[in-house]
Formats: sequence, C-alpha cells, structure tokens
Amino acid sequence: MDGPDVDLVVAGAGGGLVAALRAAEMGASVLVVDADADFRRGNNTSMCTAMIPAAGTRWQRVANVDDSPDRFLGDIARKTKGTADLRLARALADVSAPMVTWLADSLGLDLHLVTDFRYPGHSADRCHTIAGRHGSQLLGHLVDRTRRHPGIELIAPMSLQNVSTEYGRVTGVEIASPDGAGEHVTAGAVLLATNGFGADAGLVRQWIPEIADCHYHGGQYSRGDALRIGRALGADTAFLDAYQGHAALSSRCKTLVGWATVLHGGIIVNKEGQRFAPETTGYSEFAALLAAQPESAGWIIIDEHIADLCSTFDDFRAVTENGALVEAASAHELAERLHLPADVLEDEISASHRAAAGLEPDRQGRIDDRHALTPNYIGIGITPALFHTQGGLVVDGSARVLDERDHAPIEGLYASGGAATGISGKGAGGYLAGNGLITALGLAFLAAEDVGQQKTWAAGSASGSRAIS
Ligand SMILES: Cc1cc2nc3c(=O)[nH]c(=O)nc-3n(C[C@H](O)[C@H](O)[C@H](O)COP(=O)(O)OP(=O)(O)OC[C@H]3O[C@@H](n4cnc5c(N)ncnc54)[C@H](O)[C@@H]3O)c2cc1C
Repeated sequence: MDGPDVDLVVAGAGGGLVAALRAAEMGASVLVVDADADFRRGNNTSMCTAMIPAAGTRWQRVANVDDSPDRFLGDIARKTKGTADLRLARALADVSAPMVTWLADSLGLDLHLVTDFRYPGHSADRCHTIAGRHGSQLLGHLVDRTRRHPGIELIAPMSLQNVSTEYGRVTGVEIASPDGAGEHVTAGAVLLATNGFGADAGLVRQWIPEIADCHYHGGQYSRGDALRIGRALGADTAFLDAYQGHAALSSRCKTLVGWATVLHGGIIVNKEGQRFAPETTGYSEFAALLAAQPESAGWIIIDEHIADLCSTFDDFRAVTENGALVEAASAHELAERLHLPADVLEDEISASHRAAAGLEPDRQGRIDDRHALTPNYIGIGITPALFHTQGGLVVDGSARVLDERDHAPIEGLYASGGAATGISGKGAGGYLAGNGLITALGLAFLAAEDVGQQKTWAAGSASGSRAIS
C-alpha cells in the first residue's frame, strides 16, 4: 500500500517549526504551511521576548541555580492557584530541559540564562534566551534551519482549511492559497500550531470580555482556526478565558516597554499620578488592572540606571529610539512634562523611595528587594494589551488532541502553543512568564517525539511520496 504524501503536516510556522525540525531529524517528511506571507515578522513567536523557561538545565548548573522540573511544576501550581492542568504542566516541566538542550545542540541556537532579573512567580532563574532578547531572532533561526532541511517543505501563504479523518484517524488535510486554489494532501499526522483566537474580536469578547476593549498586540492570523477545525472533529476545548495580557506596551509606538522596568525598581502610576496595585503581581494580570484606571492608561516611572539595565532588550531600545522616554531632573518637572498633578506624583515617588530603602512598608503591599529611584527620572506612557489567548484544544502530555466524548486521542491529531490548552489555569492571573513559549515549543517537541515513535523511519530519509522542493 502507498504511504501518505507526507508523514507530518504542521499548520503554523511559529513554535510549530520545532515540531517540523524535530520530526524531520527523526526521518519524517514534513510539510509546513502558514497562512501569512509575512509570518516571519507577523506571528507571535516573531514578536516575543524569547524567554524560554526550562528547569534543570546545564546553563543553570553552571550558574549554580538550584532548580528541577518538580520546582517548576510547583511554581505553575502556585501561580494558577492549582487550577492549571497539572498533568500537562508536568509533561512540559519534564521536557523543558531536554528541549532547550536540543535547541542549542541540534539547532545551534546560542542560548544563555537570564540572571539579571526574575519574573514574578518563578522561584529560580530559569528563563533561557538569546542575544537581543527578541523573538524575531529566535524565529529567524528556526526558519533558516527549516528552509535548509531537505526533509521539510515550507509554503506560505498557504492556510490549513480542514483535517480529514477516516475511522477516527487523521488521513490528510485541505490547504488553500489566498486566491482560493485548494489542494488535498494525505498525511499521517497533523499538528495544529495556528495559535489562539486573539485576532478574532468576537471570540475575545465572548470568552474574555475584561480585555476585549484593549489593544491586541499579537499575530493577525490568530483567528481561532484550530478551535474550528478541532471542534469539527469532535475535539474537547478548555480554559478559553485564559490569556496573556501585558500592562507595559508603549502607548506611543505600540512596542513592548517590558516588565524588567518594574522588576528593576520602576513603579506604575495612573493618569492621576497615583499608584494603584503592587507591580510585582505579574504583567499579565496587571493589564486588566490598568485597563480599569482613568483613560485605561498610565506611566511607568523609572530612572536612568533602570533604563541602562533594560537596554539588553531590543524592544526597549526601540521604545527609546522612538522618543517614548520623557526625562526630567526632578519629580516635579517630570509631573509637569507628563501633565500629572505634581504633588501626587512627588508624593508617590518619595514614598516608593522610602519603601525601597526599607524605611516604611510599600503602599501597595509590594514586597521586593528593589533599587530606589533617583533623579533623573523617566516616564514612559503605557497601555494595556492582549498578547495571546491561552485556552484551546485539550491535549495530553504528548500533545495529542483529545475528543470531547471520552477524552481519547484523535489519532494523528496534535496541537501546540495557543492552539492547545495552556498551563495558565483561568483568566490572566495564572500566566507565568514563559507559559507562551513553553507550550508553543514544548508541545511541538512532544508532538514530534510522539509522531516519531508511531513509525520507524530510516534515519534522515523522507518516507513520504510528495515532492519536496
Ligand atoms: C510582545 C510579546 C512578547 C512575548 N514574550 C514571550 C516570552 O518572552 N516568553 C514566552 O513564553 N511567551 C512570550 N509571548 C507569547 C508567545 O509569543 C506566544 O505564546 C507563542 O509565540 C505562540 O506560539 P504559536 O506557535 O502558538 O503561535 P505563532 O507564533 O503566532 O504562530 C502561529 C502561526 O500560525 C499561522 N496560522 C494561523 N492560522 C493558520 C491556518 N489556518 N493555516 C496555516 N497557518 C495558520 C499564523 O500565520 C502564525 O504564523 C510574547 C508575546 C508577545 C506578543
């Protein structure tokens, strides 16, 4: 009997490329399709800060960081107050170290451990990243590797329309180019790596009304295609109200200012010059808090020392070059330049200074060992945003999509990243920094491993009969 055209179809060239590369390394023939001609600059993986959490890695050992998958799992459980799918979180915590090791050793990605600050909720330094700390570098590297691999064909723009099954098993896909020309490709397995539904305003309003009026800062092709395609096959869905918000998007240039600003000692005030919450709770849940303030906007207040520390981020440098930093020699002058009541802002800055120096408790209950702001002060206008949705198709620890009826795997169907249920529980508060990429890269890696185990390929040789260009 003839085999399928390809062993694996990956829909979505973001984190999904990890599955393509890992499966191809194991000998599979892979077809990747992406709906967006400009996916290399337009999808979430290209826009992100490239912080990949992993526990028990060699980079941590070198830095004497005591960490383990158990500890990572404990942090996920705490951040979500136990509401996350801990079976899935366990699989991702376990695969995190082997996956980043593979990114470095097999794909040649130059990773380092972030030790200059730590995101809220992580009890150990475990974010691994690349120089510039920007997803465009990460995705660019994955795309270059994909293009060079003889076992992978990548076509864009080309969108996945439907997945066909026979007797409950995946048999192929319908794909179409923007002019409507369609093609049926037979396939042994399909990975839905099409992200969530952040770009579909109606779905966001239906599932996450608290963030629906905020700016959406994510890929324009995150239209909920995986939900539609998966549901048509009887797949279960969960955690559809979970999302990654962010409170620190520059209102001037819609580029990420970054939470390192507040973790290094910055404070956030509203348009009346007042702080309104402890900034260290987390940037995701802070988005809805900022949205509820007057004019749904505010200012991050930092100083020159913090601005220097944040210049390791490409995004922060872009915000600076865009003229979004307003600098002043005193709190009074800064208030005037930001059109804030001077007495209120001066009072907030001096109280924050006293709290950072340990002279009095923080007014908002913030507990961190932080640098006390000193002149020159800098204000950066911020607006809250939705970055991506975290709920989606229910998957098991091998990224296999489960059906709604009895939670059995739909054979050959996988989901990763924003297409799958995440590990952030419900709402915005469970989002632990890194939950986006660990589900995007980690589930893609697990899917490829599972596909590889379903079939024994002659190493390095594509078994499919589709011509690979
Ligand atoms: C500014 C910013 C910073 C972030 N920083 C971090 C961070 O440091 N760490 C972290 O963990 N997370 C971070 N995130 C979140 C992270 O970027 C995402 O969670 C992750 O990249 C999602 O990957 P994905 O593969 O699911 O989706 P994407 O990378 O968006 O890829 C999905 C692809 O699918 C394509 N597609 C959609 N529908 C179809 C279809 N029907 N057929 C074919 N293709 C289709 C799209 O065009 C797109 O290219 C950040 C997000 C933003 C916006």
